[in-house]
Amino acid sequence: MKDCNCIFCKIANGEIPSSTVYEDEDFRAILDLGPASRGHTLILPKNHYADICEADPGIAGKLFPLAGRIGAAMKAVLGASGFNVVQNNGASAGQTVFHLHVHIIPRYDGGPRMVSWEPGEEKPEVLAETAARIKGVL
Ligand code: 5GP
Ligand code: ZN
Repeated sequence: MKDCNCIFCKIANGEIPSSTVYEDEDFRAILDLGPASRGHTLILPKNHYADICEADPGIAGKLFPLAGRIGAAMKAVLGASGFNVVQNNGASAGQTVFHLHVHIIPRYDGGPRMVSWEPGEEKPEVLAETAARIKGVL
């Protein structure tokens, strides 16, 4: 399942060189070319899935443990004090490359604010109605 027009397929499968931090039969993890912070890493499945909704559940299930391993490595060797795990689905969510990938963004004490939002407010009845709508199709 490769898409010959997809740059992340080419990177994941070694056709285009990258700064690889990890590789196994299912994934390649590479440094982001436009890092949000030093060490910003992307985990790319070797198979092509546009986003998490399309992903094989076995592959999706391996992503979180691998993200944790990479984040721990960042803390061990880069001096990061934390990290964000970010995964964008759809253009409205900020996805720009439509091959499933997970960002691991190391965070450093005193670093810039990012991956955050202003908390909103919502009425309890709207929360209840929203939850019921989502629950109804799961
Ligand atoms: P998205 O916005 O789709 O979640 O994230 C795409 C990410 O891929 C961006 O952070 C961008 O900097 C990175 N990126 C785009 N093209 C390339 C590339 O050719 N090589 C690498 N290493 N990163 C890329
Ligand atoms: Zn692809």
